[in-house]
This record gives sequence, C-alpha cells and structure tokens, in this order.
Amino acid sequence: MPLFEYYCSDCKTKFELLVSHKHADDVVCMKCHSEKVRRLLSVFASPTGRGEDLSFDGLPDAGGSCGCGGGSCGCN
Ligand SMILES: [Zn+2]
Repeated sequence: MPLFEYYCSDCKTKFELLVSHKHADDVVCMKCHSEKVRRLLSVFASPTGRGEDLSFDGLPDAGGSCGCGGGSCGCN
C-alpha cells in the first residue's frame, strides 16, 4: 500500500497515512476526524516541461523585448 500525505484544513494538521488507492480519497483526519482533508501531491508526480514552455507560450516573437509592443519606445 502506498503512503500518502494529507492536510486537514480544519485543524491545519499534516499527516501521513498508508491507504490503498481505492480509499485514497475517502480519508478523514486522524486528529479531528474531519472530512476536509486534501491529499498532497507527491514530488514525483510533478508535471514535466515547467519553465520555458510556460513563460514563452503566447508571447509574440516580433514585438521586441521592451514590452511596448509597437517599437515606439526607442529600445528597438
Ligand atoms: Zn483535522
């Protein structure tokens, strides 16, 4: 069984729990038994392609790098 990390938004407690995938979403807080717990993402589950893809997507290539976009600021 995998070990998951959870965070309870009621008592602000972080706890770890060994739970099967089937029951991973129905966990209650170990301390206050609240159902407002959220499973924290594991480090190895982070998406690939962060950085370049995000920062340059959608920016026009021909606008220059000064941010004025029109070339009228004199930095071109
Ligand atoms: Zn709690």
